[in-house]
Amino acid sequence: MQWERRAYLDHAATSPLMPEARRAVTAALESIGNPSSLHADGRRARDLLDEAREAVADRLRCAFAEVVFTSGATESANHALVGLALGSQLGKRRTILASSIEHPCVLQLAPTLRALGFRLETVPVTRNGVADLDAWSDRINEGVLAVAIQHANNELGTFQPVRAIADMAHSAGCAVFVDAVQTLYEPWTVDDLGADLVALSAHKIGGPPGVGALYIRGGTRVNALLRGGSQERERRGGTENVAGIAGFGAAVRALASHGERFRRARREARDAFLRRLSELLPSAWRPTVTAAEVLDGHAHVLFDGAYAERLLIAMDLLGVSASAGSACSAGSLEPSPVLLAIGLDRETAKGGVRFTFGWCSTAEEALWAAERSSEAYSRVVART
Ligand code: PLP
Repeated sequence: MQWERRAYLDHAATSPLMPEARRAVTAALESIGNPSSLHADGRRARDLLDEAREAVADRLRCAFAEVVFTSGATESANHALVGLALGSQLGKRRTILASSIEHPCVLQLAPTLRALGFRLETVPVTRNGVADLDAWSDRINEGVLAVAIQHANNELGTFQPVRAIADMAHSAGCAVFVDAVQTLYEPWTVDDLGADLVALSAHKIGGPPGVGALYIRGGTRVNALLRGGSQERERRGGTENVAGIAGFGAAVRALASHGERFRRARREARDAFLRRLSELLPSAWRPTVTAAEVLDGHAHVLFDGAYAERLLIAMDLLGVSASAGSACSAGSLEPSPVLLAIGLDRETAKGGVRFTFGWCSTAEEALWAAERSSEAYSRVVART
């Protein structure tokens, strides 16, 4: 069967598996052995975990024992923030501060934290989708247990002033959790960020889905959430996802070797896409943020006179996969909470579309996608 041509511009949601990761996953699936078993087969599985842990620790410039493998960044964020609350033994620090544009894996912890006797409070961002440092400075005090801040926002791609917030938090004795899911392409270290806890996810960088990691700086008091085994030095019970972890390690190693090439591919594809979209639709859209440092692989735009919901369907029919970064409920697309948090009104926010590029994106694919997207826009507007 002949498949129609498609362009994949949704790498921030998930990225295709890298060949290196595919080979590592396949090889690991073909070997037997539980890494907790002492026999040779078990030891071989343990070696695969060790190699992957070494790759992640090298990448973050942290100690081998500070990396805990998880099922992904959602689990890592839950582990970090709920684990900190549980580990704090209900002292006088009962507030966790989070940026208002954090991923739901942080913001939706509010009820769980409340049940444990803690408050999750949000701190506003500017119109450009960047943390407001004055607001953070006003809110950080000795009642705060931890701060949660993304390294870069998953919808807008905006980098956050993580180090400045971490420094303020540490001066007040708070722990610092950083969601760095969208920035593994960039060459930062945990010390650059000033982070005590960092969440990572494999499938955003060409590793397999369902695997990630939590960096826990030595000495940070974080209780385990998953009990029932001594795996991961008693920080996460349950037999490890050896194949997934091996694939994650391989993707991290590939990024370490070819990071500059992947970054350039993302940047060139994103720039080609926006340039061509400007030529084809000079006055139908504008960038959502204009005065912020944005990830190389991100383009978030606001279309005039067309809702993202309809545009995305029309683009999909013409072969382009993109996203609005918002939840579909009962057939109507609610505007993205991130776009509302930067102060857009609901009507404007409904025109927001995210195009994201990854390790295998090409300018040629991006140009084709811009033409199809422009055609999709014209079709939607003609029907409105
Ligand atoms: N944090 C950010 C910024 C994300 O973009 C995502 C993925 O959508 C997550 C957390 C959750 O990651 P995972 O799919 O590994 O649970």
